[in-house]
Amino acid sequence: SASALTEAPADPSKGTLRILQLYPREMNIYGDYGNVLVLKQRLAWRGYGAEILEHNAGDTFPEDVDLIVGGGGQDSGQVVIQDDLQAIAPRLRELAEEGTPMLLICGLYQLFGNEFRTHDGAVIPGIGVLDLETRGGTERLIGNVVATSEEFGEIHGYENHSGQTFLGDGLKPLATVVKGAGNNAEEGHEGARHRNIVASYLHGSLLPKNPAIADFLLRTAAERKFGSFQDEGVDDSLADLARKHAGARPR
Ligand code: GLN
Repeated sequence: SASALTEAPADPSKGTLRILQLYPREMNIYGDYGNVLVLKQRLAWRGYGAEILEHNAGDTFPEDVDLIVGGGGQDSGQVVIQDDLQAIAPRLRELAEEGTPMLLICGLYQLFGNEFRTHDGAVIPGIGVLDLETRGGTERLIGNVVATSEEFGEIHGYENHSGQTFLGDGLKPLATVVKGAGNNAEEGHEGARHRNIVASYLHGSLLPKNPAIADFLLRTAAERKFGSFQDEGVDDSLADLARKHAGARPR
């Protein structure tokens, strides 16, 4: 893996979190990189440092990782990374079960499940971290989404996918859809929630408009590493305004 960006803590009494972005070359569409930037900036505002690492196909998986972010990608990009993803799967499973916080969007959300059958019949095996299956269809689910969750309140984002995801019985959805489709065209559920993993179809990117999810990931990572998280010092009025406007937009 390559270290793409390091910012030292502005407050010397605070530490640095190591954030790993999975497959930024292929799995990074509709602004998903914005999720990494939000995590880095929310750490900086609080005096913490951030080290951003990238894992692309063929890289050696890093030793210490505090938080993992994976974005979306086209079916063709998912085919390109599938062998490498299987190669690092044991490590990802271990990290997930230990409680490492992870944000998985769309294409990588699908591949953390059991399998993805694309609309042209290809079967891309998943890594089974999340008990779910995805089936490609001819219909694309596209548009603005509003969903509600007890844990994070109202969630705003944008979806664009042909894969429709069905969760296994024991897996909880992230949210209930108010506007848009979410996991599939039938059930009115969006995303999945397991251990410290937040998985979602929503781009936009997700975290700028959903700081509660960003802070869940950061707090979990910081508490695991430092024993506490000092979360004061962030003004979310712009995020609130963005949520208000996004929520008022047509589908
Ligand atoms: N290729 C997948 C699909 O269309 C994921 C798309 C995405 O990441 N937006 O279902």
